[in-house]
Parts: sequence; structure tokens; C-alpha cells
Amino acid sequence: MSVSSNLASISSTLPKNVLLVAVSKTKPVSDILEAYQFGQKVFGENKVQEMVDKYHQLPKDIQWHMIGNLQRNKVKYIASFVSLIHGADSFKLLQEINKQAIINNRVIDCLVQIKISEEDTKHGMSFFEAKTMIASEEFQSLKNIKIVGLMGMASFTEDKNSIRQEFKSLSDFFIDFKELTSSQISLQVLSMGMSSDYKIAIEQGSNMIRLGSVIFGKRFI
Ligand SMILES: *Cc1c(COP(=O)(O)O)cnc(C)c1O
Repeated sequence: MSVSSNLASISSTLPKNVLLVAVSKTKPVSDILEAYQFGQKVFGENKVQEMVDKYHQLPKDIQWHMIGNLQRNKVKYIASFVSLIHGADSFKLLQEINKQAIINNRVIDCLVQIKISEEDTKHGMSFFEAKTMIASEEFQSLKNIKIVGLMGMASFTEDKNSIRQEFKSLSDFFIDFKELTSSQISLQVLSMGMSSDYKIAIEQGSNMIRLGSVIFGKRFI
């Protein structure tokens, strides 16, 4: 199957309110161009250097989402062009994003990553930490970031019920906090779901899915 035929069959099944982020990490620019020509404009990468390289080589109307674990000292390399940072998982990281956004004279949209899985490899804040941060004065002072939603990753398991429970916990939290608005917060986006679990995520209220292998094929690195 080609990238464009994969995209065509997936897109035809998605509800209208669900935005598809095509996760192109490790894949060549030629694959991204094929998806772009098909009409896909939003791509996700998880490594800063790779995203910068691809940004320079590809059309400028592509929206680049940083979906990976982002180190503070690397924010500066993507701050001028990144369209959404999914993995904001600490106040210190948000402070750095805010600082780099000021330097670039813009506001950077971010999702707070919440840890909904017990797995050690999954990053994110607890619900309590996220709530506390959002309510804090220090947070209110970060005028050049905007929290537009939440992101979470379910456990890597065959157990659909536990995946469903993890997504539901994030979705419930999202609904509770949707009402909360300020100059820095406007929760619109619920980013959850990857190739193996996006159908469950959508059933649980996701409106942004991050799909790699079902579009571009297996990754070997
Ligand atoms: C790699 C990755 C994805 C996509 O994974 P697939 O299983 O290939 O769909 C989604 N989200 C994050 C955070 C990733 O790192």
C-alpha cells in the first residue's frame, strides 16, 4: 500500500472533528511529500534535529507538531516555526518555551502531557500536578504560551479495556477542565491515539490522533 492510499482509507473513516497528525519520524522527505501532495498538511516529529532538517527541505505551509519528549535546551531550534508542542510535561519546560516564544515574538501553542499509563517510559504530569500548575501565579505570568489542550499515551498492551480506561481518565479530566479559560488556556484539543489504539481513543473523545505506521509503514529504527 502507498502512503496516499493509506491516507485515503484512514481519512475516510475519521469523524470530521478529528484532526490527523501524520507522524513522519524516521521517514524520508519523499514520503512526506507524497502525503503532502495528497493534502496532508500536519506532520508530527519526535526529534528536534530531524524536524528542523525536514522543515528546511519541505513546503512552508506544513504545520509541524513536536510530539516527542522535548529537552529544554533544544526548544530554541524549533521555536520560530513549530505549530504545536504536544509534550509539555513540566513547568520548567513551559518556562523555556515561553522564553523562546518571546525571542521569536510569537505565542506557542502547547498541550500539557498527562501520564495516564503506569509505564515508566511514558512521560507526563499527574492530573493533580497539571491542575496545580494551571492555577499557579507563576503559570499566569507565561504570556507567550497557550495551553490549547491535553495529550496522553496509553499503555502498550493488548488489553483493550485498560487502554479504554486510560483514555477515559484523560477525557474526563479534559471535560472537567474545558470550562477553564484565561489568556493562557483554552482547552480545545484532546490528543490521544496512535496506530494501534486510535479507534478506542476516538470512541473516548479524542479529537487529535497521531498516526505513523498505519500511514508510512513500519519503522525499522
Ligand atoms: C511514534 C509516535 C506516534 C505514532 O506511532 P505509531 O504507532 O507509528 O502510529 C504517536 N505519538 C507519539 C508520541 C509517538 O512518539
